[in-house]
Amino acid sequence: MRNKKNKYHQTRKYLRNIQKRTTLNNSKVRDSFSTTENEIGLRNIAYIYQSELNYIGKCILDYPRIETGGQLFGFWTASGVPVVVYAIGPGPKANHQVTFFNQDIEYLKFVGRILVSEFGLMHIGEWHSHHQLGLDKPSGHDAETMQHSIDNLHLNRFLLCIGNCNGIDYSIKPYIFMENHKGYNSSLWKIKGDMSPFRSAIDKYLSTIKLQKRHEPKDEYSWFSVKSNRVRLKNILDFLKAKSGAIDSKAQLKENIVEIITRFQDRHEVIYFPPDFPKSPITLTLHYGNGCIKEIRPEPSLINCSEKDDVFLVFKQQYNSICQ
Ligand SMILES: [Zn+2]
Repeated sequence: MRNKKNKYHQTRKYLRNIQKRTTLNNSKVRDSFSTTENEIGLRNIAYIYQSELNYIGKCILDYPRIETGGQLFGFWTASGVPVVVYAIGPGPKANHQVTFFNQDIEYLKFVGRILVSEFGLMHIGEWHSHHQLGLDKPSGHDAETMQHSIDNLHLNRFLLCIGNCNGIDYSIKPYIFMENHKGYNSSLWKIKGDMSPFRSAIDKYLSTIKLQKRHEPKDEYSWFSVKSNRVRLKNILDFLKAKSGAIDSKAQLKENIVEIITRFQDRHEVIYFPPDFPKSPITLTLHYGNGCIKEIRPEPSLINCSEKDDVFLVFKQQYNSICQ
C-alpha cells in the first residue's frame, strides 16, 4: 500500500518540472471554459486514437491474471478534455502483482523525458489493469492515492484509465480526477482517428535506442511448485473451511497464481497467492451480494517474508491481520 503511494508520487514528481513548460497551468483560464464545456457536452469526454487503445489492450492481454499498467501522454484541450496520443506500457523492471502494479521508474523517466522534451507531449494520465478482478473503475485505494498525489503535486487534472479483460477481450475506461475536488468523473472515449500521428514517429525514435519493446511475461518460479508447500496448502484450505460461516473453500491454479475462493452466506472471499509467495504477500477481495467489492492487503509489517518461511504460518498471520 505504501509502495503504491510512493509510486504515484515518484512517477509524477519528476515530470512535474519539465511539464511546467508545456502545461497551461492556469486553472482560472480553464474554469472560464467550463460553461462552454458543459454547453457542448464535452465534460465527460476523453479523446484517444484507436492505435493507443489497441496498444493498451495488447499490454492488458499480456498479463491476464495480474496487474499491468503504463502512462498516457498527450495534452489537454482548452476546455479541459484529455487527448491521449501516445500510451506506454510496463517497463522491464515493473512490479506486477495480483492487486497492484508499480511502474519501472527508470524506464518511465527515460521514455517520459523523450516524449516531453523531443515530442512536446505532456504526461496526462496513467492506466492500469484490474484484469479479471471484476472492478472496472478505480478501487477505493486507487482513488485515494490519485487524489492525494494530484493535490500535493498540483497537477490540476489527471486521467486514470482502468482496464479489464477476460483472457480474450479487454475493456478500458477513462476517469478524470481534478485537484482539490472530491470524487472523479467517469468519462466516455471519443475516438479521434485510427492511428495517432505520434505513434510511428515515437516508436521509430525509441526503437533506435532499443528501449521500446513489449515485455512478455516471464516464466516465474512459483511457490506452489515446491512439494512441501503444496502439502501446506491443504492446511490453508482446512483453516478456511473451519472459519465460522464458511460454506466451502476451494483452490485453483491460474497461470502461476493460486486463488482460493471461500463462500459465506453473504459474500465470497478470493485470496490470491502471487507466484513468489510468501516473499510477496497475499491479497484478498471480498465480493458482496450487492456487487460491492473490497480489496485488502496485509499490514505492511507482515509482508517482509522469505522464501524459506512456512507458507501456512505466513498465510495465517497475514490473513488474520486482514480479517481482524
Ligand atoms: Zn487499481
